[in-house]
Amino acid sequence: MNKDRMFYCLPQQAYMRTDNCQKLRKRPTGKVPAGAQPKLRACEGCTMYPLVDKDKVPTVTLTEYLGGQKPEIANLHSATNKKLIQAHLKEAG
Ligand code: SF4
Repeated sequence: MNKDRMFYCLPQQAYMRTDNCQKLRKRPTGKVPAGAQPKLRACEGCTMYPLVDKDKVPTVTLTEYLGGQKPEIANLHSATNKKLIQAHLKEAG
């Protein structure tokens, strides 16, 4: 995965850093230890992250983003992306 790039996270409707997406996903679900933050609901039900991991979402660099450029919004319903998502869900069981 290409770290330090910005993409548009559809479930959260927000621009996010790709490595932040990974970090958010590693958060615990349900009851969390004191001081820890639970996984966001958006990430729990998310089907977009396989595309982030596989570098299949449109991105801009952090520098470009700070300079005012915005990444395009991924199309989760394109045939290619649907296939990638399905393949990942199968792998994950
Ligand atoms: S796991 Fe999904 S909802 Fe969470 S930040 Fe990544 S793309 Fe967004």
